[in-house]
Amino acid sequence: MSHTRVLIIGSGPAGLTAAIYSGRAQLNPIVIEGEPSSTTDQPGGQLMLTTDIENFPGFPDALTGPELMGRMRAQAERFGADLRVTKVHKVDATRRPFRVWLTDDVEPSITADTVILATGAKSLMMGVPGEDRLLSHGLSTCATCDGFFFRGQDIAVVGGGDSAMEEALFLTRFASTVTVVHRRDSLRASKIMQERAFANQKILFAWNSQVLEVLGDDRVRGLRLRDAFSAEERILEVTGVFVAIGHVPNTTLVKDQLDLEDNGYVRTGIGSFTSVDGLFAAGDVQDDVYRQAITSAGSGCIAAIDAERWLEAQGL
Ligand code: NAP
Repeated sequence: MSHTRVLIIGSGPAGLTAAIYSGRAQLNPIVIEGEPSSTTDQPGGQLMLTTDIENFPGFPDALTGPELMGRMRAQAERFGADLRVTKVHKVDATRRPFRVWLTDDVEPSITADTVILATGAKSLMMGVPGEDRLLSHGLSTCATCDGFFFRGQDIAVVGGGDSAMEEALFLTRFASTVTVVHRRDSLRASKIMQERAFANQKILFAWNSQVLEVLGDDRVRGLRLRDAFSAEERILEVTGVFVAIGHVPNTTLVKDQLDLEDNGYVRTGIGSFTSVDGLFAAGDVQDDVYRQAITSAGSGCIAAIDAERWLEAQGL
């Protein structure tokens, strides 16, 4: 069993930025990066599923998600972070030092004075044929990230909540038309968002439409839809699809041990402090609003500084 002053769980922009900062503070952090378990769950987080990133400051010529994460990893390693491609099985945050299991052994693998939880969130996916294959090839879960690539195109947004309306409205800046594909005949979104969407001439609606398949070989070329009442099938020809049916924060490891918001995100007070002393949270696991690589990185920086100062105050 080893001991560390800072253990970081997660290797997206929040986790790796926390690693860079705590590494530079000579805290020799251990980062548990995760390991691939599906196309939507892998070390490096959601950016590993993103093609070009054009809005991360400092990269005027854009770079790919995996490239950006590779650079952050290298930077964290340069400052002494110990990066491990494995998963955390269990965390006991009920007493300090915290105990962390990387295997199903009885004994914990690591004890840690502080833990920075940067496990991110997952976009809910439709689970239909073509979705996995075309992710990042015309199918996206983030309009802010990818909308720019769909200039002048006819595209679709799947979902009927606030996220779907927000994505659809944002995408009208680029696309010729945005068809909101919703499985019912009324939206779940708030009235104000509904009104904005209805008022926008570029937004069309495909009501009572269940998505059966995302069509296309190496690029999206359409959606196969089924009418909820008549069961009739039709093809909606679009060159882009944004899935906006919700997100779930990855809180399984700790959800019974700290306070969560009503929507399941980790509750943080000022900075990255959670309801458990010594346990900090950064990135999408505690942010259901901004969800950007840059805000996530910023929040990783905050968590590293909070952890460093907390250790100092404890004399650890
Ligand atoms: P949400 O409110 O849960 O809406 C999800 C939408 O996706 C629903 O319309 C749902 O259909 C649909 N859906 C779910 N699973 C589906 C599936 N397998 N296939 C097709 N459609 C599916 O999620 P959200 O829009 O991400 O919002 C989450 C929370 O964040 C909400 O409280 C929202 O108000 C808030 N939010 C606020 C803003 C804002 O105020 N600007 C922006 C984004 C999010 P049904 O309606 O039929 O269930």
